[in-house]
Amino acid sequence: MQTVVVWFRTDLRLSDHPALTAALQEADTVIPLYIHAPAEAAPWSPGAASDWWLHHSLAALDADLHARGARLVIARGDSATVLARLCSEHNAHAVHATRLYEPAPAARDRRVTEDLAARGIALLLHAGATLLPPEHMLKSDGTPFRVFTPFWRRLQERCAPQAPLPAPATIPMPADGIASLRLDELGLLPRRDWDRGFYGRWSPGERQAHHRLAEFARTALADYAHGRDLPALAGTSRLSPHLHFGELSPRQAWRELAGGGAAGALETRGTEAWLRELGWREFAQHVLHHFPHTSDAPMDARFERFPWRRDGGALLRAWRRGQTGIPIVDAGMRELWHTGWMHNRVRMLAASLLTKNCLVAWQEGARWFWDTLVDADLASNSLGWQWTAGCGVDAAPWFRIFNPVLQGEKFDPQGDYVRRWVPELAALDTGYIHRPWTAPPAMLAACGITLGDTYPLPIVDLAASRAEALAVYKSMGTDFKSVPIPTP
Ligand code: FAD
Repeated sequence: MQTVVVWFRTDLRLSDHPALTAALQEADTVIPLYIHAPAEAAPWSPGAASDWWLHHSLAALDADLHARGARLVIARGDSATVLARLCSEHNAHAVHATRLYEPAPAARDRRVTEDLAARGIALLLHAGATLLPPEHMLKSDGTPFRVFTPFWRRLQERCAPQAPLPAPATIPMPADGIASLRLDELGLLPRRDWDRGFYGRWSPGERQAHHRLAEFARTALADYAHGRDLPALAGTSRLSPHLHFGELSPRQAWRELAGGGAAGALETRGTEAWLRELGWREFAQHVLHHFPHTSDAPMDARFERFPWRRDGGALLRAWRRGQTGIPIVDAGMRELWHTGWMHNRVRMLAASLLTKNCLVAWQEGARWFWDTLVDADLASNSLGWQWTAGCGVDAAPWFRIFNPVLQGEKFDPQGDYVRRWVPELAALDTGYIHRPWTAPPAMLAACGITLGDTYPLPIVDLAASRAEALAVYKSMGTDFKSVPIPTP
């Protein structure tokens, strides 16, 4: 009787799971295993909102395994030790897992491979986290891509995703009892109930991910190219946490929307625009794989000497709490706190205000997002922050500083998004909702608003801080744009 282990990490699904499929082909019985080892992802151990998602996703995976005659074995501790013990107890000679690309988990997997090999056990890593393995996506000169557009062109040329693998009908497990922790022993759920807003909003798990995808295809995909920029609408898929935790593979998403799957969407402008965003996810993984330092240091090394405010102090505190006095940013930061998610356009505006108007280091903002996002993803978060701060690959140039008032008026023209998340401004006329400090005092009084009391005055003067940011940028030397970007 051959037994192998399937080591689940951020691939919490049973369909389109090459590691699981290979394990079932190879062995008579399989041990589905999850090891809780957050320290192995340090310094980017999952934050509290990610832990919330993880708890529910593991519960869903366990239920799906039960429906196939198996169950999830949960362990805690050093991964190599847990795997070696389990393999020895059950005479298993191989562990199958999905290859990960974040620097710490990838380094851990290299260590575990060596450790297990010394005991005669193979760790077999399978593709599945990305559309194409980042190590295979290189320019014709053999170097990694640094610019999205040619990367996307190449991805489209090469990406003809095969039909996703079906979920196995049954998963035979060894008959002898295997010790497992209970899920609640991992302590992933918060002790204080700050997660109340998450429950109505999210349904983690593979089945729910497919449901979300089908719902998005039915209701918002056709208008996505336009709707994706309007934070008041449910115009985007909200699949990011499902994709991050691997409840849905990017191949399934691609095939379902572009390839005549159950959603049956034709190639429309909306589909094209959405696949392009999936391309950005892929690009982020590509960048982090080839430039692993970019989770902590700027891609553009010239920014290492940028005079960021390392201790953002009061500015950072106000930003985190959604009390900046800039309504669209406050709406986003409060949406983030209450739901664990923020609309992409607003992520850019919030990040821009912090890094460019307040000159607070992008790493400070990235860390807060890391702790509070249910979709916190090292590759996408680092790319998003560096892009906005102007120090990443293919980044927005430093001198393009978003004006959050004009952006708010353009993308939230009726102020619905601000009214939803900043109720203390709800009564204000639409013409002032994104710039309450310009409203006539009598109107403010009639709406029950006292600036500086019921709602803050802006923490920075947008025009003056913009000028300061440009001056700092210029003070770093006129050669700033012409210094070559270092190669890896
Ligand atoms: P949709 O618009 O439906 O897009 C479909 C999918 O494409 C998303 O689920 C996501 O997987 C991917 N995607 C979309 N936009 C991007 C993008 N700009 N970069 C990379 N992938 C993208 N995304 C994360 O998944 N995790 C993060 O931690 C994260 N941090 C970010 C931080 C900043 C400062 C910025 C500007 C962006 C960040 N993003 C992050 C990217 C983006 O905001 C989210 O992926 C998107 O808002 C998720 O919503 P959705 O699923 O409805 O997206």
